[in-house]
Amino acid sequence: MLENQMLQFLNSDFQQFTQQDKQDKQDENTETEVPNNSQRQMRVKSFEEKPANKPLNLIFQMLLQKKTQKRQQIKVDPKSIPLSINLSVQVQELPIIRKIMEKNEWKKAHNFDGDILWCGPDNVQQAKQFTYDFAMVFMNLCISRIPGAKLISTKKETTSIMDKMRQYFPSIYNFYPKTYTMPEDLHEFIEDFEKKDGISYIAKPDKGTQGQGIFIVSQIEDLFNNGVKDISYIKKNYIIQEYISNPLLLDDKKFDFRLYVLITSLKPLIAYINEEGLARLCTENYQDITSSNLSNVYMHLTNYSLNKNSQNFIIHPPDFQKINLGTKRTYTSAKKTLMKMGIDVPKLKLRIEQTIVRFLYGIAPFLLNSTREIYQDKWEKANCFHVIGFDILIDRDLKPWIIEINANPSLEITQVVQNSNGSKRVETSSLDAYVKTKVIEDAFIIAVKTPQEQIEQIGKGKYCNSYKMIIDGQPPIENLDLFYKLVDLYSNLCGLRYGNLNQMRFCRLANNPQLINDLLIKSDYDLIYKKIQLKSLQPDLNFLGFLEAIESISEKLLKRKASNYTLQKAVTYVVNTALKAPSQQQRPLTAKR
Ligand code: ADP
Repeated sequence: MLENQMLQFLNSDFQQFTQQDKQDKQDENTETEVPNNSQRQMRVKSFEEKPANKPLNLIFQMLLQKKTQKRQQIKVDPKSIPLSINLSVQVQELPIIRKIMEKNEWKKAHNFDGDILWCGPDNVQQAKQFTYDFAMVFMNLCISRIPGAKLISTKKETTSIMDKMRQYFPSIYNFYPKTYTMPEDLHEFIEDFEKKDGISYIAKPDKGTQGQGIFIVSQIEDLFNNGVKDISYIKKNYIIQEYISNPLLLDDKKFDFRLYVLITSLKPLIAYINEEGLARLCTENYQDITSSNLSNVYMHLTNYSLNKNSQNFIIHPPDFQKINLGTKRTYTSAKKTLMKMGIDVPKLKLRIEQTIVRFLYGIAPFLLNSTREIYQDKWEKANCFHVIGFDILIDRDLKPWIIEINANPSLEITQVVQNSNGSKRVETSSLDAYVKTKVIEDAFIIAVKTPQEQIEQIGKGKYCNSYKMIIDGQPPIENLDLFYKLVDLYSNLCGLRYGNLNQMRFCRLANNPQLINDLLIKSDYDLIYKKIQLKSLQPDLNFLGFLEAIESISEKLLKRKASNYTLQKAVTYVVNTALKAPSQQQRPLTAKR
């Protein structure tokens, strides 16, 4: 009987998932807004395909659209909100914050007071100390950092989450180039490299080094120090990524976008994208990759920190909003140039937003887990926000690729300029100041509103000053809830001590008769727990260990029973079943300790 139920579930679910897959495939060919609540089922074709090379037609279309669909926006004068900013834990990147405070007559707060606690990059250390005590002391302030942002501050961590999402939702998570982490994936990489298939690979240090140490892999030996092909000589803490070799070009140069995304709440998930950003160009015309040009960083890497040293580097003109020139430009001005080239910019913009939304749905449950680990039972009171920098490369098919994300996007607003006599001076970059002021100032204005206020007052697709709300607390596709549900289940099982799941509590899952069968008996739960816990060298299971355990249960319970088994369907079944179980089976004992 139970088995029938299981198989029924898998079959009905399979239909739903195939429908979903079909929908996903359609989405890839059809430009769709990520739908809001009421539109969720009505995926509309937003832009008809337009013949290329018709810039005038496109511009006309844009103008018409602008006229008919007036941008929905609430405008807030920052001066009208008298904020006080606490800088007591921050030691760097103060120039821009001070400028913003001065401009708006915002006050400096002391000790543990204020509306906003500014926590920037030099506080990575501080972020590690983002402990329960730290959170409690600043409980009444809005903290400019989500605990667990370390999950998105190294390429390895980001890659492991994106790999997981791709494993579960391959047709959705296809915008992060295939990535191998070293040394763990060396053998897999060698196998793929030897097959080659015309793919090139780029090797990057795990932690952002502003272009230093990056190289394009021409032979396996490149991955080893001194070229010694021995595992003990491997360049550790590198990732290897498929190289996107057909980039869209701007003025014949490769470029990428740095866009700024604001997260103000994790549950419900609320996120925004800033209308402004940067375009960073290479300083030499792009050519397809060959053995003779692969080491030319000015042709292949868009990092500003590298290209500023090139003799072809062009500093942006003071009137950067009108003149589309310079190695670094605004997102808006780059879009104007692309439009003149005949690129369907509205379509591109939509694709970029859609890609970012998908990325955020993938990463958010993991960030939520870290937040709950820190705040424990007070997690719902966590009052944190975060500005993330997205580096996005566009290929010639107008597909956006997320190349890197930065938990600490640079807020530098100065640049080095050469005088006519060859000496150098440091001055404020009007372009950086313009973009980054919007990014930070408006983030503060929005972040001090409660999630409910944001949803009610701003709403999906609408702007509050420079930020457009792209996620309003609702998932776009039901299945993507799975990882949130896993966090809930984990929390139910952990009880009072979130983050520490002991064996007894874990094994309560086996009290549910729907979660055992002849292939998975109660004692298997003990074995699964022990195996993963021993591997982790921790006394209890953390969330990632729990995820592994659930995967193992799902596989054992269903793999040999269901002909249409997939890991995603099986885990969904297990999680839904466990969450539906009467509460006493999972609910922790709340006995006083
Ligand atoms: P970092 O910012 O830490 O130096 P990135 O991952 O941003 O490292 O890479 C630096 C630059 O290299 C990018 O801005 C981009 O121009 C280029 N690049 C990185 N990854 C790829 C890739 N997979 N395909 C094509 N170009 C890439």
